[in-house]
Amino acid sequence: MKIDLHNSQGERVAWVEVDADSPQRVVQAVNAEGHEEEHYLEWEAAFDDEGRLRKCPVCQCNDLYTHRNAPQLLGFIIVLAVGLICLGLWGLTDAPLALVLGVLGVVVVAQLLLMVFSGRFIGCYRCGSKFHNTPIPRRLNAWDTLTAEKYRGERPLETS
Ligand SMILES: [Zn+2]
Repeated sequence: MKIDLHNSQGERVAWVEVDADSPQRVVQAVNAEGHEEEHYLEWEAAFDDEGRLRKCPVCQCNDLYTHRNAPQLLGFIIVLAVGLICLGLWGLTDAPLALVLGVLGVVVVAQLLLMVFSGRFIGCYRCGSKFHNTPIPRRLNAWDTLTAEKYRGERPLETS
């Protein structure tokens, strides 16, 4: 498991590698000033019966979310599609319709491939730590603004 480790105050620390089968309680990470510091992880009851993370080992928060690694191209696709359709409708482009549709098709296929092959990670709402290369619990929800609101003020929030 690779952890994008944040401290309990929500400040980003470093990437650390943890053995999911016997996770270590103490990890060393170099901080922003270049000093090595120790961070304590509490793994007690952190995994469910199927070995999936259900609690943040950094801050003990039970509110976790799952998110894709890949950037979302959907907004870009919609803007591109509307733009191309408008250009086509008003005859402002000499590009043949097949070429316009071809460009759209390539972008849609690229998005689908990204969605299929990109991994997911588990994030913690409170401290912002992100857990990669670990099985995702089946009932874990995607990022939710309402839940994130609960932790607003405790730390600056981010989604990726
Ligand atoms: Zn946490």
